[in-house]
Amino acid sequence: MLELSCRQLRDDIAAGRVKSVDAVEAVFAQIEKHEQTIGAFVSTFKDIALEKARSVDAKIAAGEKVGLLAGVPVAIKDNMCTSFGATTCASKILENFHAPYDAGVVEKLNAADAVIVGKCNMDEFAMGSSTENSGLKQTVNPWDNSKVPGGSSGGSAAAVAGRMCFASLGSDTGGSIRQPASFCGVVGLKPTYGRVSRYGLVAYGSSLDQIGPFGRDVGDAALMMNVIAGHDERDSTSVGADIAPVADCLVDLDKPVEGLKIAVVPQFNAGASDEVQAAITAALEAYKGMGAEIVEIEMPHIDYAIAAYYVIATAEASSNLARYDGVHYGHRTADPKDYFEVYSKSRAEAFGDEVKRRIMLGTYVLSSGYYDAYYLKALKVRNLIRGDFTAAFEKADCIMMPVSPTTAFGIGEKTDDPMQMYLADIYTIAANLAGVPGVSVPCGFDSGNMPIGLQIFTPAFTEDKLLRIARMYEKEHQWHTKVP
Ligand code: GLN
Repeated sequence: MLELSCRQLRDDIAAGRVKSVDAVEAVFAQIEKHEQTIGAFVSTFKDIALEKARSVDAKIAAGEKVGLLAGVPVAIKDNMCTSFGATTCASKILENFHAPYDAGVVEKLNAADAVIVGKCNMDEFAMGSSTENSGLKQTVNPWDNSKVPGGSSGGSAAAVAGRMCFASLGSDTGGSIRQPASFCGVVGLKPTYGRVSRYGLVAYGSSLDQIGPFGRDVGDAALMMNVIAGHDERDSTSVGADIAPVADCLVDLDKPVEGLKIAVVPQFNAGASDEVQAAITAALEAYKGMGAEIVEIEMPHIDYAIAAYYVIATAEASSNLARYDGVHYGHRTADPKDYFEVYSKSRAEAFGDEVKRRIMLGTYVLSSGYYDAYYLKALKVRNLIRGDFTAAFEKADCIMMPVSPTTAFGIGEKTDDPMQMYLADIYTIAANLAGVPGVSVPCGFDSGNMPIGLQIFTPAFTEDKLLRIARMYEKEHQWHTKVP
């Protein structure tokens, strides 16, 4: 049963051939077997999940209509608020925080009759590329337990790859869905900024954050997208149907895009390892074989994406994280001698090093003496990068490139050098600055049997087309069927 896609499982459950309760039991048997090693979850909810599964099974037995994810066990990253359990962001400062409400996406999962089995580990406040910045636990890569699962949504990716749920949600501020998807050999989609509600997503970089799905194949990512996409008036940056109606990502998924034109940026791709480059080249050849045309382009400002991102993201983070003050939320220091110490000690005790580094960076670039030199400059660069995407999409339907310069690296390999860690995001970050959707699709393995991902971008609000392009490749290759 664990090898079924979400679509198959959902149809089997809805038709009464499989009980949701059995699917949930199967998932928890797997969690009990592997979670000790993989460490994908911050918390699991067996009782709540079984109760939900029983209610879905009962609805089906009574002949009631059920949702798109009826009875399907899924997981979510632990930065999405739930009215049950804790919402920790893998931070000691929120370790005991219980949200009073469900995030918009959690409501949508519930409305679709999905069963949430657990909340996944992540880099603290989604800051990182390896999940090693979690303040709570270590997650390892299901393909090789000495390697990182990627980050910051490493738990969500490892849970799907390790068959501890059928699909999951992550959040992507600079690559945190696509990069762990690539490291763990699953499909990961970052939707257009504004497509999925951020209501109840704990903010990191508000102008960059976007929730999106992990699936074992493109079809499951499409199904999850159909469930979570759409306007939410409680998120003022969520886009309404009047501007961009939500497309059904599943109906035409198997229809190839006729006369597909693919843009590539040769000198940018040359920064990836030989094995990654070889896999991307082979994937491009496969598209050519399907009749696609490759257009070589330049994206002149993309080299500045990392620099601009680490100014903008840290500026927004320093502001967003000001709310963890020892008063409103979470950890409070035991014996403050005055009001000032309530702030300083609570924050000093409970934030991890990377979070502190970013609060300092962000505060610095927003300070009155440096605002123009750094923050304002970064916003201008962001605009130029957005222009690079617009120009590229005038020449081609999509852009393809690697997801990451390397496959999953060793645990501890980059932890002493934050700059090395930041550089791991070179291929993913620009899409967040531009707001466009991007997907990571498995496209091979390196000589150490670690998965490699192909990244595809299309214009804003064309997730349906993006997934169709990804599906064209997936249909002819079976990388996604390999199990760690
Ligand atoms: N690795 C990037 C960072 O550390 C992106 C993280 C993310 O997308 N949440 O900020």
